Amino acid sequence: MHIPFVDLHVQYISIKKEIDDAISTVLTNTSFIGGSAVEQFENSFADYLGVSHCVSCANGTDAIEIALEALGIGNGDEVLVPSYTWVSTASAVSRVGAQPVFVDVHPDFYTMDVSKIEEKITSKTRAILPVHFYGLPADMPTILSLAKKHDLLVVEDCAQAHGATINGQKVGTFGDIATFSFYPGKNLGAYGDGGAIVTNNQDLALKVSVIARLGQQGKHNHVAIGRNSRLDTLQAAILQVKLQHLGAWTKGRQQVAKCYNEALKGASVKLPSVPEGFSHVYHLYVIQSEDRDGLREHLKKNGIDTQIHYPKPLNQLGIFDVQGTFPVSDEMSGKLISFPMYAELTRGQVDYVANLIKEFC
Ligand SMILES: *Cc1c(COP(=O)(O)O)cnc(C)c1O
Repeated sequence: MHIPFVDLHVQYISIKKEIDDAISTVLTNTSFIGGSAVEQFENSFADYLGVSHCVSCANGTDAIEIALEALGIGNGDEVLVPSYTWVSTASAVSRVGAQPVFVDVHPDFYTMDVSKIEEKITSKTRAILPVHFYGLPADMPTILSLAKKHDLLVVEDCAQAHGATINGQKVGTFGDIATFSFYPGKNLGAYGDGGAIVTNNQDLALKVSVIARLGQQGKHNHVAIGRNSRLDTLQAAILQVKLQHLGAWTKGRQQVAKCYNEALKGASVKLPSVPEGFSHVYHLYVIQSEDRDGLREHLKKNGIDTQIHYPKPLNQLGIFDVQGTFPVSDEMSGKLISFPMYAELTRGQVDYVANLIKEFC
């Protein structure tokens, strides 16, 4: 049996008619940039999260850069980011001229280790940029109280955690501003690139939109030097359809994770941990194994695709100025492995993968 890591085709088939209709409407209207589909999606996504403003943009990396720029973060500023994340979280900070300062991750949750934040704060620190990693929210209650204590801004990178909650409150609604990616493989994915910035702060939302829309505040009224970062109309129409299914897909992912957890009981691997009151949306199902590479090879031989998120922590890339050591990130990059995860996986497929894992461990 071959089990791919993600299967966007089965998902497409399950909603083919709705998607084809939405695409066909855009083609018939031949309006490919802007228009009502983009506005409709921005409003729907804001409603879904429970936030007052959503500005769509070209991708999740742009979203972080634009959010930081709108907050006035740049030269001479420091921003705390986890040392183990996708590169964009930190490169966006560098791109706006500020310095990403790494904070190691928690050995059970893999999100920013909040006990290591205060030691990294200096007079230059302007913001904390936690990542809701693999689908699990970062410890926002603690991050918000530290931000308040030290007068720091909070930017949430929600690219891997659409719909994840802490005590029922969705990620993206905790900090000053939050960013999303709609890269195809994300929990809410377009059929191309896409991203969004959300906030409850009206002034900030206006700044974001001015930056992302070529400095315009209304057509031909250029009030700042902006950039061009847009979600195109086709992607907005596709995302509007897919957003209606996100709740069911999230439940499906959580069900798959539950099956993995049950089937792997007793195997000598460390399963995902979820703090009390947190919901994990399992963008990725990631476990720790002492012989990660051997396990990966064993699964590969049996037709199971796996991935490593990520083979090198950011502190090892050699492209960032690194201060301090990051023992947990270094260790995790050698132990973590991600298994196939999508709502359409069947119980039989999950059991097949789990049995192969148990056979090896
Ligand atoms: C995917 C991702 C991004 C970037 O999103 P793109 O749309 O690919 O630019 C940023 N941060 C994290 C944590 C991600 O996983």
